[in-house]
Amino acid sequence: MAVRVVGFDGDDTLWHSETRFHVTQGEFRDLLKRHVPDADIDARLAEMEMANLSIYGYGVKSFTLSMLETAIELTGARIPASDLEVILGWGKRMLMQPTELLPGVEETLRLLATGHDLVLITKGDLFDQESKLARSGLGDLFLGVEILSEKNTDTYRGVFRRRGIDPAGFVMVGNSLRSDVVPVVAAGGRAVHIPYEVTWEHERVPEDQLPTDGWLRIERIAELPEVLESL
Ligand SMILES: [Mg+2]
Repeated sequence: MAVRVVGFDGDDTLWHSETRFHVTQGEFRDLLKRHVPDADIDARLAEMEMANLSIYGYGVKSFTLSMLETAIELTGARIPASDLEVILGWGKRMLMQPTELLPGVEETLRLLATGHDLVLITKGDLFDQESKLARSGLGDLFLGVEILSEKNTDTYRGVFRRRGIDPAGFVMVGNSLRSDVVPVVAAGGRAVHIPYEVTWEHERVPEDQLPTDGWLRIERIAELPEVLESL
């Protein structure tokens, strides 16, 4: 069946995101090293993020709260409030940075929007994602926006139901095998994987757990129109 609806992930598919987390995490590591030189700061922060995921969900605000909690815990609550203030400032900076589109995104979306319905399907913090989309200048190209607390087979099925989408005519495009490929194929749709330069550990999937068909991988979003034609 021809592709009628194309779903796009936002973070690291349309605009840069993970590299910003990496930069901030590097600054966090440097700051905490001054207080606790021997601590494995990255490992503790990663554990904290996972433990907090079910409480705060995804996004920059959750990441900021996890940095604060890690800083307080690793220093035995001796970190000065002025350093906590610095960490809060990093969170605000991340939330206010301009949305930086990946190469080829705008041209490709404009091209595809003429023959397909485009839907942005992303997870994370509602306010942050809506604000990023508004700053991206791409808002008008999307017929709809779905911000999900988690991307799994059930939540994709919910999107199909709400929007009257036939999964056989749906393709999801994204950088995460775990969020954008595996659950979509399981829900009867197809997927195009476009890897980003950095992958958050949480989004990785072992090769043997990947579906054998129903998805393919391209290197750049500019290849997408041709690929969709061939499907
Ligand atoms: Mg993504």
